[in-house]
Amino acid sequence: MDCIFCAIEAEQAPCHQVYADDHAVAFMDINPSVPGHVLVIPRRHSPDLFALREEELGTFMTAVHRVARKVRTALDADGLNLFQSNGTAAWQSVFHLHVHVLPRRHGDMIRIPPHIEPGDPEELAQLAASIRAVT
Ligand code: 5GP
Ligand code: ZN
Repeated sequence: MDCIFCAIEAEQAPCHQVYADDHAVAFMDINPSVPGHVLVIPRRHSPDLFALREEELGTFMTAVHRVARKVRTALDADGLNLFQSNGTAAWQSVFHLHVHVLPRRHGDMIRIPPHIEPGDPEELAQLAASIRAVT
């Protein structure tokens, strides 16, 4: 499978999943920009936002909204960014549509572009568990 996010969607590649429904899946970003950084993807391979069919937008944004609520609650965030890139000029690096969910803290000094550094595996697992546990 060429697409890593299709492999994750098909459970053929590992991830810390925090949400799944018939149309979308959400999991911890492997290089978190902030603690609790989650990615939401549509199950159907769509390289970017423009490849998503209009009739798919509703179910996809419903999943993004649910995940944002779960992350905000689990991390007790002061704020939250949704971030989504289309094309290399816009910093897209994985060509399966995804929305970044970024919980924010006052004074967290987040930078764009975010730093690229593998997350601590234990911390990823703990954060995934706490987000998963929120109903
Ligand atoms: P983009 O730069 O395309 O907006 O974001 C791609 C994101 O996917 C990056 O934040 C990167 O850390 C994340 N990512 C890339 N490969 C993997 C992977 O195999 N597993 C997970 N969980 N995240 C990944
Ligand atoms: Zn894909």
